[in-house]
Amino acid sequence: NKSFLIYNVTLIKGDGIGEEISDAVVKIYEAAKVPVDWEPVDVTPSLINGVTTIPKPAVDSINKNKIALKGPLATPIGKGHQSMNLTLRRTFGLFANVRPCKSVVGYKTPYDNVNTVLIRENTEGEYSGIEHIIVPGVVQSIKLITKKASERVIRYAFEHAKSTGRHEVVVVHKASIMKLSDGLFVQCAKEIAKDYPDIKVSFELIDNTSLRLASDPTTYSKVVMVMPNLYGDILSDLSSGLIGGLGLTPSGNMGEKVCIFEAVHGSAPDIAGKGLANPTALLLSSCMMLRHMSLNEYADRIEAAVLKTIASGPEHRTGDLRGTASTSSFTDSIISNL
Ligand code: NAD
Repeated sequence: NKSFLIYNVTLIKGDGIGEEISDAVVKIYEAAKVPVDWEPVDVTPSLINGVTTIPKPAVDSINKNKIALKGPLATPIGKGHQSMNLTLRRTFGLFANVRPCKSVVGYKTPYDNVNTVLIRENTEGEYSGIEHIIVPGVVQSIKLITKKASERVIRYAFEHAKSTGRHEVVVVHKASIMKLSDGLFVQCAKEIAKDYPDIKVSFELIDNTSLRLASDPTTYSKVVMVMPNLYGDILSDLSSGLIGGLGLTPSGNMGEKVCIFEAVHGSAPDIAGKGLANPTALLLSSCMMLRHMSLNEYADRIEAAVLKTIASGPEHRTGDLRGTASTSSFTDSIISNL
């Protein structure tokens, strides 16, 4: 009987605002009596033989639980070790990053019916970390695209479309210029599409997608977009902007065995430690996690409470949503709306 089960979930609180927003989620889960036991782990990276390494207790916990919720991790520029976010994605084979973006009823933006789903390739492209100096003043950065990673994320996008009732997969690319790399991505999509005769496939240049998203995002309401890594990074922030900003958008990093859910935003060092952060994005990421664990009833209840709180006026919203609430008073309002 599922109602007697307690699920272990690894919790990476993260840097900057990470602690504040993670604590908010933990408090809301306690109040909603979600059957989750958090296992907090430290992921401060160490350099072992020049390779950025995640502490073993964290790796063991994630491998055991298969599910983690993660706050943002800062990537110091020029500190010698690779981005911990990239390291986590590689270590656990988190090949697809699912980023839904839905208008929040009760928070007015120029569009009130955005409902997009963007799937970002999560392991390669410009994020391969292969850069070198040719001669001083001339550098080269490799954009790595493989058939294997492209096929995997594109197939995931078709499966996602099928299981969520979206009738079309839009493949976003720039193969007109990057003929080989994005060309391979497009070619893989054409092949995979043959396995899904009921789902339409279309191909769109990233510049056109940017224009169309900004001028009429509703044209993407019934599709799933899939794209190489960097395009997904940029277009998902653009999509966040359409619904009220980074404080609102969740994501899931999906792998074969492990999934790590996290907000789209970073560690927000400009507001860290000031009690100003909006925990909604991490909380909605945790709702994606609960649905993945088939704990839909808890996800629905928490999501309804946060949307009701945001809709109940500026005194109940955080500053990023033109409100005056602190992280903790916002959290308390969500709890009272559960
Ligand atoms: P950011 O997302 O941290 O912040 C951008 C802007 O959005 C800031 O003004 C910030 O205050 C605001 N913001 C973001 N989240 C918010 C929230 N929950 N509530 C209210 N306002 C919020 O982007 P950045 O400043 O470019 O990056 C800071 C650090 O985070 C960098 O080290 C970067 O590498 C890292 N980062 C990590 C992740 C991740 O862990 N997945 C993602 C992006 C950036």
